[in-house]
Amino acid sequence: MDYQRLIVCHECDLLFRKPAAVKGRRAACSRCGAGLTALPGCASSLDWICAVTLAALIVFCIAQSFPVIEMRANGMTSEATLLGAVHSLWSGDMRVVAVMVFCSAVLFPLIEMLALLYVLVPLRLGKVPPRFNAMVRLVQIVRPWGMVEVFMLGVLVTIVKMVSIAQVIPGPGLFALGTLTVLLGVVASFDPSRLWPISDEIRHSRMADVRWSRVSTGRGRFMRPSGGRKAGPSPAITARRAGLVGCHACGLVQTRIEREAHQRCSRCQHALHERRPDSLTRTASLLLAAAIAYIPANLLPIMHASSVGGSEDDTILGGVAYFWTSGDWPLAVVVFVASVLVPVLKLIVLTLLTLAARRGSGWRARERATLYRIVERIGRWSMLDVFVVALTVTLVHFGSLAVITAGPAALAFGAVVILTMLASHQFDPRLIWDNVDARRLMGSAPAATDEALADPLSTNRIS
Ligand SMILES: [Zn+2]
Ligand SMILES: [Zn+2]
Repeated sequence: MDYQRLIVCHECDLLFRKPAAVKGRRAACSRCGAGLTALPGCASSLDWICAVTLAALIVFCIAQSFPVIEMRANGMTSEATLLGAVHSLWSGDMRVVAVMVFCSAVLFPLIEMLALLYVLVPLRLGKVPPRFNAMVRLVQIVRPWGMVEVFMLGVLVTIVKMVSIAQVIPGPGLFALGTLTVLLGVVASFDPSRLWPISDEIRHSRMADVRWSRVSTGRGRFMRPSGGRKAGPSPAITARRAGLVGCHACGLVQTRIEREAHQRCSRCQHALHERRPDSLTRTASLLLAAAIAYIPANLLPIMHASSVGGSEDDTILGGVAYFWTSGDWPLAVVVFVASVLVPVLKLIVLTLLTLAARRGSGWRARERATLYRIVERIGRWSMLDVFVVALTVTLVHFGSLAVITAGPAALAFGAVVILTMLASHQFDPRLIWDNVDARRLMGSAPAATDEALADPLSTNRIS
């Protein structure tokens, strides 16, 4: 059977008919509100995203080569580049934090841009490059971990922080970094799973050329046209109910083979899971580890300042209090929200979602799904304080006059951010909807009329 014309919501498992053409339009699931991925691609839209990625790569090189901030105090000058910040942390025995900053602000954005260009340029020319699947997967894997926009906010916070103690001059790297943030925002709006249908089209047309005949696309074999009939209140048809499974990487809908424990996607070879294995146990363990790391992250000093007048330790909350009392209350609010509120909210929300899924609750599923999506998006902004520490350490090293070094809380805090991000990745949002489906099925079993069975997808609409 051909399921090429089906699409599955990766968050609630609902099945849809693939819309005929989607050009730059965002389609959302009508049940949970999640953006649908792996929509039919349009080869002409690749030009635009290819140009933006290339521009982002050029601006990235400029942002790396020039200083982002320069600071002058007592006749001495110091400057901070992106790689300089990494080097300062590394030489200051904060190697794990240095690796975190390097990966999130330099390595992962670079890998994303290079891998995207590697697949986009040949696709535009009508060719599928070798190792296409691995490269698109790479883009999907590194994308959530690239945090140039958070680094940019970190630079702005550092500038405001330093203005009170020294003369701060924005460097050419800062403008490049600002441009890069915007360009990468545009690149991030492009869903890489759209490249799979395009590669399929190219491969199919090649095969058709070889055989001198048109390849049958098997249209309409699975679904009947609804013909404008009014559908009965039938329960939502999910991929699980239909005995299908949607690939999380490329979105291809395929038959679930029950006896095969480690089934792989027939298109991209990614492991297929009806539900992510041990999702709740893994999420709970990562949350516990994050909650434990959150204690030293707040109690231990995040920065250690030593000057001629003496030395001082600075905790996260101490920093917020300092901004608040010195009149920089907008900055105090930004740092408080990013460093204190977001991690706590993330821990609480994910714990509640895990408990509700474990108890089999069907309560307010749509709201819970929205909450999960918000938590997944905002989690990365907690990296702000780690970036501010990295930049401050780089800027303030005026020999014996004043030196700031990173404290142990920077490491604990970075661990909290990474652990909570991993926890939200491990949580399978389809578990939120499983109990809703089970209840609706029990409550409305007689509603599965002949009409609804003839066209099972008539109630599932893309909004
Ligand atoms: Zn959905
Ligand atoms: Zn796949």
